[in-house]
Amino acid sequence: MKRSLRNLFLPALLATAASASFAATVRVGVFTLFHPRKLALAAAPDRALVIEGEKVQLVLEDGRVAVCHAAGRLIECRAGERVLRAAVIRAAGRGQGDEDFTLSVPGKIARNYHGKLEILRDGAELVPIVAMDLETAVASAVAAESPPGAPLEALKAQAVVTRSFYVSARNRHPLFDFCDTTHCQFLRQVPDAQSPAAQATHETRGLVLLYRGKVLTALYSASCGGRTRTLREAGFSPAGYPYFSVRCEPCLHSAHKWTAKLSAEDAAPVLAHPGSEPARLQVNRKLGRQAIPGNNYSVKVEGSTVILRGRGAGHGVGLCQMGAASLAGSGWDFSRILAHYFPGTTLASQPGRSGRP
Ligand SMILES: [Zn+2]
Ligand SMILES: [Zn+2]
Repeated sequence: MKRSLRNLFLPALLATAASASFAATVRVGVFTLFHPRKLALAAAPDRALVIEGEKVQLVLEDGRVAVCHAAGRLIECRAGERVLRAAVIRAAGRGQGDEDFTLSVPGKIARNYHGKLEILRDGAELVPIVAMDLETAVASAVAAESPPGAPLEALKAQAVVTRSFYVSARNRHPLFDFCDTTHCQFLRQVPDAQSPAAQATHETRGLVLLYRGKVLTALYSASCGGRTRTLREAGFSPAGYPYFSVRCEPCLHSAHKWTAKLSAEDAAPVLAHPGSEPARLQVNRKLGRQAIPGNNYSVKVEGSTVILRGRGAGHGVGLCQMGAASLAGSGWDFSRILAHYFPGTTLASQPGRSGRP
């Protein structure tokens, strides 16, 4: 699975890697690509979900569904004859605990979540936010972000990287901490407890990467093409962890090779700053997501045509998913993989949470 458009760089965020203060809950804005105007909500089978409005409660159980939409300045949720209106809708299990529920944009998408739900308004749109346990968020993102068939040790490395990002880079959006797209980390629903993603998360529970005592805003991409890039090479000014260029043997031998032919005008950003992620994204915003698949390429100008010959996909900074999968396949454990792609960092357990390497 290629994540070549992972534009999670914001230089400011890299300067604000959190110290050792760890919150156990992550607020994820979900369905962010759908801009929903209507949401349907139901408890999981044999579970109950309590929706709170001002002074009114609705209890969803036995398959009962509530449908919510904007109404005047409020949000209205309707379940059969019962109607509830409030500026902010909150839903949780009985006793305010985390609960399993299904949320859907009717006719478009439905996903199962575990946590507490909040629905806010943004103009005519509804903004659903799931407050979920950090480990639930990590397992969900590992399941969504990892290439199919990746070995367990590669998934464990991914889990540590994903967790470090969630711990250190909060408040990336005005109304919630993280979105559910590759802008932050791709996240779908909670994976099955027996799945490799859930197992990798469980086996690294609480473990994060530290650099000079601070949790690292750890980055990753699909395939570095043969060597990873420093932040400066990728077009950013490092304020915390600078990232290092490390050799990636698996990508050297088997990364996907590609050629892109662009007009001089379209190629101007990458001609000015070859290998820069902002330049690549600028071109891709105009020409399409895969116009320039990655940052590892050579440039040749032939008349009015600019030819980029490259390997790999994505920004190429931090963990290389293709490399990690291959190294895990040849016997590397997750801590060795992490030490390779993040030189100078250490693995640490969050205080009060059991790390179980
Ligand atoms: Zn985001
Ligand atoms: Zn690589």
